[in-house]
Amino acid sequence: MSNLRFKAIEEASKRKANPVPYFEKKTSDYYGMFVFDRNQMRKYLSKETLRTVLDAIDKGAPLERNIANHVAAGMRMWAMELGATHYTHWFHPLTDGTAEKHDAFIEHNGNGGVIEEFTGKLLAQQEPDASSFPSGGIRNTFEARGYTAWDPSSPAFIVDDTLCIPTIFISYTGEALDYKTPLLKSIQAVDRAAMAVCKYFDRSVKKIVSYLGWEQEYFLVDEALYIARPDLALTDRTLMGHESAKNQQLEDHYFGAIPARVSAFMRELEYECYKLSIPIKTRHNEVAPNQFEFAPIYEEMNLAVDHNLLLMSTMKRVAERHHFRVILHEKPFKGINGSGKHCNWSLGADSGVNLLAPGRTAQENLQFVTFLVNVLMAVYRNNALLKASISTATNAYRLGAAEAPPAIISVFLGSQISMLLDELEKGEGISPIRVTEKTGTRLSLSHIPEILVDNTDRNRTSPFAFTGNRFEFRAVGASANCASAMIALNSAVACQLQQFKTDVDAFIAGGRRKDEAIFAVVRRYITESKPIRFDGNGYSDEWKAEAAQRGLDCETCVPVIYDSYLSEQSVEMFAAAGVLNEKELHARNEVKWDVYTKKVQIEARVLGDLAMNHIIPVSTRYQGLLLDNVYKIKALYDNERAASISAQDFALIEEISEHLNFIKERVDRMIEARKVANRIENEREKALAYCRTVAPFFDEIRYHIDKLELIVDNEMWTLPKYRELLFLR
Ligand code: ADP
Ligand code: MG
Repeated sequence: MSNLRFKAIEEASKRKANPVPYFEKKTSDYYGMFVFDRNQMRKYLSKETLRTVLDAIDKGAPLERNIANHVAAGMRMWAMELGATHYTHWFHPLTDGTAEKHDAFIEHNGNGGVIEEFTGKLLAQQEPDASSFPSGGIRNTFEARGYTAWDPSSPAFIVDDTLCIPTIFISYTGEALDYKTPLLKSIQAVDRAAMAVCKYFDRSVKKIVSYLGWEQEYFLVDEALYIARPDLALTDRTLMGHESAKNQQLEDHYFGAIPARVSAFMRELEYECYKLSIPIKTRHNEVAPNQFEFAPIYEEMNLAVDHNLLLMSTMKRVAERHHFRVILHEKPFKGINGSGKHCNWSLGADSGVNLLAPGRTAQENLQFVTFLVNVLMAVYRNNALLKASISTATNAYRLGAAEAPPAIISVFLGSQISMLLDELEKGEGISPIRVTEKTGTRLSLSHIPEILVDNTDRNRTSPFAFTGNRFEFRAVGASANCASAMIALNSAVACQLQQFKTDVDAFIAGGRRKDEAIFAVVRRYITESKPIRFDGNGYSDEWKAEAAQRGLDCETCVPVIYDSYLSEQSVEMFAAAGVLNEKELHARNEVKWDVYTKKVQIEARVLGDLAMNHIIPVSTRYQGLLLDNVYKIKALYDNERAASISAQDFALIEEISEHLNFIKERVDRMIEARKVANRIENEREKALAYCRTVAPFFDEIRYHIDKLELIVDNEMWTLPKYRELLFLR
């Protein structure tokens, strides 16, 4: 058969699971072997160098050039012993994923040969060919180039033969051209602001750490079938395809065993991750067929973000060895669940206390409630911005769909915490600390832990949920760099905590006792932030109406959602947090609009091409067969009999024609809309045009293609169907 679809099905059906690698050693024996961590530093650096580097990591102290030289020499020695021949600065440009440019360690030795060399200069700073990365116009030809600079707080690691050095990427004038720079600043902002508030409760606290534990959902599709679907290969999602008669209604995938081929992939992936110190803890099936999840033990945020990016690239690499392709798109298949990346976020003090976990004493619980309520306020005030931080062309297909968080940010607290806050709000004029410690009344901040133990209600429809000792930001998309959401969240919380400190200090200056001042402000915040609290069904239409009434942001058009980054409030907020300035915000929005446009543009082209050179020709050929049949019937039977025998042929012929006419007409109009949009110079206007005049054609065209898929002879159809792409065995 020349039909690529059948070849692919045949190939996929013959696959066997790769043999599961047998690991002689315990995980702890090879964990981190490809990471230049503190253990390796101890072996490869002098005491003096080690001390200076650790100071730089822990306290942000600057590193002198001669120290960088020593570190570089030690790093190279370590890397070469593990077979590395190249090095690269590894950074997170504003497009997807990571960027790298590999250079060999070699230098001329002056005698016609080479020696291996790696200097502190090369470690500390590089100039990538920056013109090929988006900068939103910051780095035009008249300004200097951008450069990457070493981030010593994230350890270097080896992938294949290359030493990878995590770096930030900034312009010569200092503007951030990446995600890592503002992420690091936002982590620092939270540290400072939260520490100032913590000092009300514990004067000995020295550092507040932001933690992140992500949960990475993904799909696997057989390589041969993937290649036979140009839409998957070029856009990472199916632009057409009728739902399979069976999909996820039985939930048998979620509860079923992990298929052997997938299990082999997962184990090899975990092995690769452990060598890179990515602490993968959980692996399981997800709800949709072919959908799975990995989750690590949570880590300090900068590292957690790097590890997620590294995981995504490692997944792609390992999957190919198992003849799979990984799909990280948020909504690759119509009619079944999409993929998210829940970001579990919390703050911890250097003492080990989790600021978002209830404590044992009333004092600890006042601290807990303080931070909880400040997060509520931060999310409330910045709900539009937080939505912007997770909005992309691809995540838009998932948000608001039946299984995903709605395109409105609200916070789920659960009934126990909600009740607690309601009581605190009512407790006008009393200090909870004195009440509980002396009389132990029902308003008992000291009793939260027991309450939480029973707090099992978990609302799956909320985009931002409190889960006992952390918040889970569920609206983040599977393909996203988590930094985008974390930058917005950290900055908003930092700014809010600054405000809280100001408000409390004003009360104290007015003569109130500290606890009473804190309580008074907390109570005011509880009242003020109420509109963001919603424990009901986030999928319902009633919620959309109510959210609008509450003044929450309900915009669904992604290019418009991005405007929130430039609102007066956001610009002030990012400036107060010291994370991004107005120039950077404008430049980054230009990039966001441009990326949005390009994604939709590519989908439109692929859809148009497939409609014209797969769907229409195949359907026309099948229609031709039906027409032939009619002629043959006419030749054999008298008119009356012939008409009755070929009635169903005629019905199908006409039905096919209707679909084909519709498709052709809409594809033409879509191309026209694209041409008009392409002439627009302004990035925002262009993205808007793509959102409003091009994207709406996708579903219309798809509807008719999917109808044809049900009519046309299965043998003739060229694109693998949902039932073939999904349901791995
Ligand atoms: P779920 O039931 O939502 O799947 P899991 O127990 O699988 O939750 O945990 C999800 C993620 O939350 C994991 O990555 C875990 O490490 C992380 N996590 C747990 N506690 C915290 C915390 N205090 N701060 C941040 N992340 C956390
Ligand atoms: Mg979860």
